[in-house]
Amino acid sequence: MTNTGAVLIIGGGHNGLACAAYLARAGRPVTVIEAAERVGGMAATREFVTGYRASCAHLLYLLDESVAGDLSLASHGLRLAATELQTVALDPGGEHLLMAPDGLEGGGLGDRDRAAWPEYQRRMSKFAAYLGTLRSQAPPRITNRREDLLALGALAWRLRRMGRDDMREFLRIAGINIHDLLNEYFDSSLLKGALGFDAVLGAFAGPRSNNTVFTALHRRSGAGNGYSVVEGGMGAVTDALAAAATAAGATIRTGVRVQRIESDGLTVSGVELDDGERLAASTIVSNADPKTTMLKLLGARHLEAETARRFHRLRTSGCTAKLHLALDGLPEISGLAAEHLDQRLLIAPGPGYLDRAFNPCKYGEFSRQPAMEIILPSVVDPSLAPSGRHVLSAVVQYAPYRLEGGWEAGKPAFLEAILDTLEGYAPGIRPLIVGSELLTPPDIENLFGATGGHWHHAELSLDQFLMLRPAPRAAQYRMPVDGLYLCSAGCHPGGGVMGSAGRNAARAVLGGAKK
Ligand SMILES: Cc1cc2nc3c(=O)[nH]c(=O)nc-3n(C[C@H](O)[C@H](O)[C@H](O)COP(=O)(O)OP(=O)(O)OC[C@H]3O[C@@H](n4cnc5c(N)ncnc54)[C@H](O)[C@@H]3O)c2cc1C
Repeated sequence: MTNTGAVLIIGGGHNGLACAAYLARAGRPVTVIEAAERVGGMAATREFVTGYRASCAHLLYLLDESVAGDLSLASHGLRLAATELQTVALDPGGEHLLMAPDGLEGGGLGDRDRAAWPEYQRRMSKFAAYLGTLRSQAPPRITNRREDLLALGALAWRLRRMGRDDMREFLRIAGINIHDLLNEYFDSSLLKGALGFDAVLGAFAGPRSNNTVFTALHRRSGAGNGYSVVEGGMGAVTDALAAAATAAGATIRTGVRVQRIESDGLTVSGVELDDGERLAASTIVSNADPKTTMLKLLGARHLEAETARRFHRLRTSGCTAKLHLALDGLPEISGLAAEHLDQRLLIAPGPGYLDRAFNPCKYGEFSRQPAMEIILPSVVDPSLAPSGRHVLSAVVQYAPYRLEGGWEAGKPAFLEAILDTLEGYAPGIRPLIVGSELLTPPDIENLFGATGGHWHHAELSLDQFLMLRPAPRAAQYRMPVDGLYLCSAGCHPGGGVMGSAGRNAARAVLGGAKK
């Protein structure tokens, strides 16, 4: 066996890289083993058609500011091509709605909508900020140890500090569905569709599903510049993290897959790679999703039956697809001024539309009229496409992980349904398309190794959050087998490019977090 040093990290997604950087800065010898030819995982920028580049995750809005600051990501090359994007809720009739935190424009809104907006924003921002504060630490354990009781008390105290009315409101709405909440505030279908869509992006949920106020809050829990487009695609974030890690002394190997974690059931001793090479390590941090790590790489036989069952039961079926179009020129969207093509465009014109888009997914069918979050990143970052050409990047819902009849047969029809939907808003877009890539959840699973191709590695919902994520007694990054840690989106605080799980896992390794 080759001895690679003290800490071995499986996976060079953004969390694995953040973890590597923190550990290397603390003086630990670190080796990252990444299966793909390049680092970045779901955030990597890839060439999808010759000369055209895009990243699966496409907007930056959750990055933990302290991670960006600690690791000096700006000095390692991270640049934003655009910040504070406005959201434009596209209306099929061309009466689009421009949404900014401080006001709403267009969309044929009534007085009640305009009057309710500031209070909705105030409350949701305050509640989201509370969730944001939970990110920076490992969830407390449910024990009678003093430090755990204090951590639990601090959590409750921060909630109480919201003030009595806001705290009550938070407790009332955190578990309910976004559809009911939006009806309490607004009349406009367009507005409710857009806000509802934000609550269900990346989730196996429709606007009437439980927990969707919680998922809406999670999505808003980042501080900083709102939605940003990163120069060079989101892969520039992961490249900056990789640069920070290597500058601190970490070694990154790409194009090698970890096949197996070696363990006697009590402690880990190393990994076996797909080429048969074995690397010794007494500390292993996995950036792979929890199911892959615990049930495939480690193996359920090394876990107590109840622990294995908990990992097995994790809900991990993704329902989000990603479309990348290589375009010959800029599309026109009916009723939208060209200068708004650099904003965040939503197709979710009403809660009913969203519900109808979600329903087929429950039965293994794709949406015939999907909901979409669209950006044209090449408008603000021309490096992503050949001169004068453009990239359209769209997150598309809904696409079930298991499609009736299989994706091989179903994918062309799904692509047609998406393009038909796009044509409804951007007539004439089809002739501009010179190439495309549609990633279904199984494609995302194959490309990035995440079970179910899930945005969060495991559904983000109240039953899979905080000290329940990914499983009770395994929610503080340290796993029940000595020396094994998790650092991915499947851990607290969930998915999105934030780096918090990577940073928190590094702290657990350095602090020798207790079981
Ligand atoms: C369609 C879609 C759109 C999204 N859009 C956004 C967005 O706009 N903004 C946003 O913030 N978030 C977005 N997300 C979510 C975000 O991309 C993920 O939550 C985040 O990238 C997860 O990061 P991670 O480092 O935890 O895991 P990953 O990015 O999944 O990285 C895990 C890494 O581990 C490697 N790996 C796995 N198994 C092995 C093995 N056995 N050996 C070696 N290496 C291995 C993988 O190759 C991969 O590189 C989106 C997700 C999807 C699916």
